[in-house]
Amino acid sequence: MNFTKKDLILSAQCRKAVWLQAYRPELAAEADAGSQLRFEQGNQVDLVAREYFEGGELIADLEWDNASQQTHALLEAGVTRLYQPAFGAQGLRIRVDVLDVHPNRNVVLREVKMSTRLKDEHLLDIASQVFVLQGCGYRVEQAYLVAVNNAHTPENEIPLFHEVEVTPEVLQLASQLEQQVTELTGMVDTEAEPDVPIGKHCTKPWTCAFYDYCWQDVPKASVLSIPRLSPKKLDALRSQGILRLDDVPPSFSLTDKQRDYIAFQTSGMQTIHRSAIKEELDLFVYPVYFLDFETHSAPIPPYPHTYPYQQVPFQFSVHELHEDRTLLHHEYLHLTDSDPRQAVAEHLIQCIGDSGSILTYNARFEIKVLEELATALPQYADALQRIIGRVYDQLPLIRKNVQDPELHRSYSLKTVTRVLLNDDAYANLTIANGQAAHFAWVRMHELTDPEARRQVAENLKAYCCQDTLAQVHLHYWCERVIA
Ligand code: SF4
Repeated sequence: MNFTKKDLILSAQCRKAVWLQAYRPELAAEADAGSQLRFEQGNQVDLVAREYFEGGELIADLEWDNASQQTHALLEAGVTRLYQPAFGAQGLRIRVDVLDVHPNRNVVLREVKMSTRLKDEHLLDIASQVFVLQGCGYRVEQAYLVAVNNAHTPENEIPLFHEVEVTPEVLQLASQLEQQVTELTGMVDTEAEPDVPIGKHCTKPWTCAFYDYCWQDVPKASVLSIPRLSPKKLDALRSQGILRLDDVPPSFSLTDKQRDYIAFQTSGMQTIHRSAIKEELDLFVYPVYFLDFETHSAPIPPYPHTYPYQQVPFQFSVHELHEDRTLLHHEYLHLTDSDPRQAVAEHLIQCIGDSGSILTYNARFEIKVLEELATALPQYADALQRIIGRVYDQLPLIRKNVQDPELHRSYSLKTVTRVLLNDDAYANLTIANGQAAHFAWVRMHELTDPEARRQVAENLKAYCCQDTLAQVHLHYWCERVIA
């Protein structure tokens, strides 16, 4: 069997995941909207990187055997820079983003990533390419990670990419890969599912596609969720077949905080600091506005004077709550792929008034968006700064003052809404999270059917509206608990 570098990287996270991929691929979760968008953005980054490292020949065929033949033909013809050449050796097949071929089979390889910095998993990725190139008789002179430079803007002189040389690290890693590929082959040749215990590696560096399958019998609060429990202690509990918190023996050595966690989770009791909530609520000035942005971000800055991954708002929802309980709704959704910032700022300033508290959920995000709007649009800077001065954050208000075992220490708006308000409104939405909203907005511009575009726009409005409506209901909940 031939493995790809993806298999090798996956095996570093969990070898059982590679086995499941080979034998039970139907158990894998489908790629979500976020991964689809990242995949497309990654392709765009590759395209720009080819312009940056210009003068090469692209091997576009996705089929590995065809690509391998074309690679050899181009090398025979003396081409010295190749994009996506295909090589295979010692049971591993790779494609190289940019390969420079020098005399005497010396090569320089570049791996292009949409990440802004070097990560551990990149080293294994590049090392697998070194391993195969060496197996094909090449000498790797230099190896680079090509990452996105987030200081770049379309206007400044700073290039979109910066290179990180990783030659010594990947040469060293490559020398250990033969053993890893042999183990992988042996494991995949075995028809019995490998016995690999679940653990923190299931979500690091990525949430595994087989998470739902492997964790299906694990309660949300279990020995695996005890904070800062060492792997040794976790193993000790699991080797005794202990998974449920109720079953952890009182004599088992744990810190006070870990014991408190078990006591809290098993108590089923909600704790609410009513006086602290009241103190915060007393600060709010009516009308109270509830604000939420949806944003677009991309590795290649899409608009003038933006940098890679800048969060550019394309939509907002505002609920306006008056002291007499009158509730009004305002919204704006940018319907074209032009720069949305001016229109967003203008509509927001119009609807959010000059006075009254503005509540957001995780204000750091909204404040950053507002600050960047103020920088980009000096004509609205004063008005936007005044808006920033009125912002309160509901997230710490809830996180500091409400503990509920059912939250499992997650204070996302969706979880808080479900647990505290007993409201599963997000479950009925076509777009149910920020990544899906981002993906849908990007997709909407590619649609030519007006009805399909209208439907996406409606779905986007419904999602953003739900976010601020959930904040309103959370505010009502706070008022009820302090009444
Ligand atoms: S969920 Fe965990 S144990 Fe299961 S395959 Fe993935 S990483 Fe391995």
